[in-house]
Amino acid sequence: METLLEVKNLIHRYNQKVVLDIEGFELSKGEVLALIGPNGAGKSTFLRILNLLEKPTQGIVNIFGITPINNRQRHNLRKKMVMIFQEPLLFKSTVYNNVSYGLRMRKKNKDFIKNKVLEALEKFGISHLINRQAGTLSGGEAQRVSLARALVLEPEILLLDEPFAALDQPTREELRDDLYKIIRRENQTTLHVTHDRNEALVISDNVAVMNEGEILQRGRTEDVFNKPIDEFVANFLGVETILYGKITSKSDGLCIVNINNHKLEVVSDLEVGKRVITCIRPENVTLLKYSLKAPLTSARNSFISTIKDISSYGLVYRVIMDCGFNLTSFITKESLDRLNLKIGEKIIANIKATSIHLLSRK
Ligand code: ADP
Repeated sequence: METLLEVKNLIHRYNQKVVLDIEGFELSKGEVLALIGPNGAGKSTFLRILNLLEKPTQGIVNIFGITPINNRQRHNLRKKMVMIFQEPLLFKSTVYNNVSYGLRMRKKNKDFIKNKVLEALEKFGISHLINRQAGTLSGGEAQRVSLARALVLEPEILLLDEPFAALDQPTREELRDDLYKIIRRENQTTLHVTHDRNEALVISDNVAVMNEGEILQRGRTEDVFNKPIDEFVANFLGVETILYGKITSKSDGLCIVNINNHKLEVVSDLEVGKRVITCIRPENVTLLKYSLKAPLTSARNSFISTIKDISSYGLVYRVIMDCGFNLTSFITKESLDRLNLKIGEKIIANIKATSIHLLSRK
């Protein structure tokens, strides 16, 4: 796959403080990468450097095979990328004038511009807003206009810096879904900065997790979510149960992990005697009624647990249980009703040996 963007040995400092330290980073043509990390991790700074708005203190930023050394080169490379921010930056004029601006600057002919603008407005479902003044638009409409204005230029790289963060939830989800349909259809290379792991999970092929200026892990979204590289990444990506234990025996790739004198069976490459951090995602813990005792014998990890807490968590419910150690499960409203779960009651929690991830501990 062709590399569009490459970074090597990048260090960036503000007032002597290192805010970015990235050994290597690449973005390939057609890739949709989510860059996630907590506030202050350095995501926006990194994006500004990639967009050549800021020069790194040290290191190489190579775009389309070119490392720009002067402003003219920087200017020419910047024309091939567009960046969208949290707040849409529209100027005081009509939607048409806003969306056509970049093409007018590029001295395209009138008919070409008109066709492209109409097409872009249509794509984002805002054709009816064509003559509206930018100042009269809602937040969601304004962000649609700013995306149309960016994508009408057919950029090689789309850089998104939390573009939905200022919108209310239904507006955000609608715009996100529409934008991602367009990105997929047009095979648009995209780097999307977000602090929302669910957004990353929904939108991206690949994900990079950043903290304190470093990229801790980068890989296929599913792999990173299921096999986090360390405890920070596990935590940040929503692994709710993190337990310390030790591998006490192993046969045919199946490890027995001792946690507080409870045994967990886990498929892992790690060796006997290793001290481990056990990561269990809440989606991978299924619940069964206590009265149905049969599953206890068939499932590898089956625990009689006492329900300690039930709370709503977006579209699912979070159930915290005590089974000798604390265990968290996410279940749907339908399961909650069917199982008739109540705090203080017993339940059977099952976890597949293949859906537990072990990290080596020193
Ligand atoms: P994120 O986008 O992940 O929230 P930022 O890139 O905004 O993180 O910030 C990374 C770090 O750099 C933070 O500690 C922030 O305070 C600092 N920082 C960002 N911009 C500046 C600036 N212009 N001057 C000084 N410090 C800055």
